[in-house]
Amino acid sequence: MAAVAAGRLLPWLDEHREEMVELLERLVRAESPSVDFGAQEAPFGILADELERIGYAVRRVRGGAAGDHLYARPLRRRRGDPRQLLVGHMDTVWPLGTLAEMPLRREDGLLFGPGTADMKGGLVEMVFALRALHELGLQPAATPVVLVNSDEEIGSIDSTPLIRRLASGAARAFVLESGEGPDGSLKIARKGIGSFTVTIRGRPTHAGTDPEHGVSAILELSHQVQRLFALNDPAHGVTVNVGTIDGGLRPNVVAPAATAIVDVRVPTAGAAREIEQALRDLTPVLEGATVEVKGGLRRPPMEPLPRNRSLLAAAKRLGHELGVVVEDAGLVGGGSDANTTSVYTATLDGLGPIGESSHAIDERIDTARLPERTALLSLLLLEPLDHPGIARPPRPGVADRRAPTSTRVAVIGTDASGTNVEIVSEWRALGIDAVLVDSAAAAARLRPSDVVLGRLDIRPTMESVEPGLLELLLLERRGYRVLNPAFALAAAHDKLLTARLLTRAALPHPRTEHLHRRNAPARLRPPLVLKPRLGSWGLDVFRCDTWAEFRRCLDDIRARPWFRRQGVLVQELVPPVGHDLRLLVAGGRLVGAVRRVAGPGEWRTNVSLGGTRYPIVPPPAACALAIAAAAAVHADLVSVDLLPSGDGFTVIELNGAADFNATYSLPGRDVFRAAAAALRLRPRSPAGGRPTPDSRHRTGAGEARAYGGACLV
Ligand SMILES: [Zn+2]
Repeated sequence: MAAVAAGRLLPWLDEHREEMVELLERLVRAESPSVDFGAQEAPFGILADELERIGYAVRRVRGGAAGDHLYARPLRRRRGDPRQLLVGHMDTVWPLGTLAEMPLRREDGLLFGPGTADMKGGLVEMVFALRALHELGLQPAATPVVLVNSDEEIGSIDSTPLIRRLASGAARAFVLESGEGPDGSLKIARKGIGSFTVTIRGRPTHAGTDPEHGVSAILELSHQVQRLFALNDPAHGVTVNVGTIDGGLRPNVVAPAATAIVDVRVPTAGAAREIEQALRDLTPVLEGATVEVKGGLRRPPMEPLPRNRSLLAAAKRLGHELGVVVEDAGLVGGGSDANTTSVYTATLDGLGPIGESSHAIDERIDTARLPERTALLSLLLLEPLDHPGIARPPRPGVADRRAPTSTRVAVIGTDASGTNVEIVSEWRALGIDAVLVDSAAAAARLRPSDVVLGRLDIRPTMESVEPGLLELLLLERRGYRVLNPAFALAAAHDKLLTARLLTRAALPHPRTEHLHRRNAPARLRPPLVLKPRLGSWGLDVFRCDTWAEFRRCLDDIRARPWFRRQGVLVQELVPPVGHDLRLLVAGGRLVGAVRRVAGPGEWRTNVSLGGTRYPIVPPPAACALAIAAAAAVHADLVSVDLLPSGDGFTVIELNGAADFNATYSLPGRDVFRAAAAALRLRPRSPAGGRPTPDSRHRTGAGEARAYGGACLV
């Protein structure tokens, strides 16, 4: 059967080789970096047309923190038929404009260009494998369904829940990343990827006059770096790399703190646990120093399970029918969406083209071998299922989702934020069971019935968000109810992402551009505001009224670590009026507000810069806008800063870890109680629950009564 099919498929595909290369060229010309959501539209349109032509229904799955994803299935299919999943990604690592430096080029049967190997070549195979089956009247063994996401190169942060859902309902998954090496070997094992931050604290003293009382965090870190590298175990596929270190204040001060960021790759879940334990067990060498480890696994390992091996064996046999040798790539260090699908279903990856130099300037594929790679995929789709009944494995570690009798809320954040401590103690005083948990300890300390509230802030250096986003993501995957999930925190903290989401939701926001390598914005003109992409507290925010000021500012901030890492955001200046509003939104409702007035001689209103906060009942337009902005970034508890402009307001910033206190309380209401009620955290009530005063005001009408009609939304 396979031999007969191979005999028909290969000639058909050979005949269509030029058409395949042309489709690939069109896809490559449609540049689509992961971070430019709008750029995904062009490849989306091309793929949708191709799939619709062969009788597929194409659906757009809205990306929250990414561009839209494409899902397609045959228009005609039998209900209840098993499914097989084809997975690819349309995003690339290449910024818009790369084609100018790295043009499409055909040379000796090779096609060079950004995204050819990773992985638009794989998308072409996907389209033509399905088209060949369609046109030759060959019936796949299970209904093929297609997922093409737009965020793989940024860790599939948005599409992972979708991939999990599709994989858990599929009999098997084929992933179209390119093959390994000159033979295009297939992949059934990929390492899991973890990221950890090691923070050392020492004791600072003057290095000249009082060195003997100091404890150098840098010296301590140097010991720990040695230990970390010693955890490498290449024979068992475990790699540990201290990728960056940072620390110290000045040459003449004994270093008070130092940090290292550690990349960990592990072949199995067991190895992941072991290495995580080894990191948590690190103890200081110097007396008086402390070691703190945060972080966790980002992608689970793809293990060479028997079901993956059986797919690989089928591919080898089918390769033989096609006259090509199919090899096993062995354990691959990099991750892909196969790491996710493999947890739920039999998975074979590396079925994309034979190519080289993914993510490098000479990225290319071998177009001569496109037909045989595509034929292999077609044959796999025809291959009878091992277990037609779909043995669906139990989802690992899924928490109990039944409504708990008494809910405890675990606030994930640091106690460095007074507000986090205050939230917990205020809620406890109201009879709401609450604990403050460090992100690194969350997995160990949480009960299945806990509700999790993410309150991670920006690091003081403004280089990144505090560690813990990945832990939040994992908790969500395990089935916890997570308020302020990782997407929402990232979307509120990353002002570039905020700008995109607000623009998409058509909410007023200053026009924003991101400068990294360029020296001037493309469209904006002074007066401008320069600010860190991840920022807080009004720090390093500059107003530039002229180009000369702008250039001076840019020169000044170039040396900042956050600039080197994130570039800078340029926004049009909304003329400051000396005050603004900060509204606190919880569970889609207004729960608190203040008016912030700038200090003397200061245009920014931040309290850290001398601003003052006053209680206020905000006008309805401000309430509606703040609630819409919170919804646009999917945040459950977030502050929204609004600047009066024209006869309305403009959204300036959001913060998922904002500080607040009793000043924020609306008239007659307590802000902490209002937030708990809006988030539907119920107090302990032994009698089975009379409603608390706040929970009676659930409806818009109740709200309106509570605020004298000010916030009817
Ligand atoms: Zn890829």
